[in-house]
Amino acid sequence: MLPLPAFSDNYIWMLHDARHALVVDPGDAAPVLQALRDMGLSLQAILVTHHHGDHVGGVNALREATGAAVCGPAGETMPAPLKRLRQGDAVTALGLRFAVIDVPGHTAGHIAYYCPDMDGTPLLFCGDTLFSGGCGRLFEGTPAQMQASLDALAALPGDTRVCCAHEYTLSNLKFARAVEPGNQDLLKYLAQCESLRQAGRPTLPSRMATERAINPFLRTRETGVAQAARGFDAHVNPREAASVLAALRQWKNEFR
Ligand code: ZN
Ligand code: FE
Repeated sequence: MLPLPAFSDNYIWMLHDARHALVVDPGDAAPVLQALRDMGLSLQAILVTHHHGDHVGGVNALREATGAAVCGPAGETMPAPLKRLRQGDAVTALGLRFAVIDVPGHTAGHIAYYCPDMDGTPLLFCGDTLFSGGCGRLFEGTPAQMQASLDALAALPGDTRVCCAHEYTLSNLKFARAVEPGNQDLLKYLAQCESLRQAGRPTLPSRMATERAINPFLRTRETGVAQAARGFDAHVNPREAASVLAALRQWKNEFR
């Protein structure tokens, strides 16, 4: 499993065995074609989480060049032909079975792909819904939808490898530190991620247990997080997770 860097901060996740590969959210075909050539692999499947250009831009070129099957959300405008997926569906590629989870919020039809067992560990491709230390912007969904989507992801096993579509970790963690300055797990994780980035390495995949401990958007029911959100916006209802999330998202949008 490897993250192919694309654009300034996207990752196109690639899984492969000795002969075949699958990719997730290929916004650009070039890095995928290069990796397939370098490793002598044939592309079997393309999984897409949502309709944004930095996730679908390479789909048609890859389909034409390789004949790979394309899967994507049933509820969004997608480069066709593709297999349209929604909650309850599953897709099999490389002998792995991925369950589809509806995660509206960033976009209205965003989906995630969850494999309960890849070499003994669960694996999640969550697109722009969950980032390490953060979450996607609410372009099409409501805070309540995003809260429910993040709840569904946070309920996955703690050892789930979380494959996010952007390297936003350091800026997310600096915001997270402003929300929870006393969170020791967060401060330790920030230091680890800073050394990874200094060494030119990805901070991803993360682990779900880590995200539950450090990601303020998965911690909207923690008293300290709710109080911090209320400090940003006095109208926040600290007992309503979606209200806390809405304030955190706005605060993050303005945070420098
Ligand atoms: Zn997006
Ligand atoms: Fe994106």
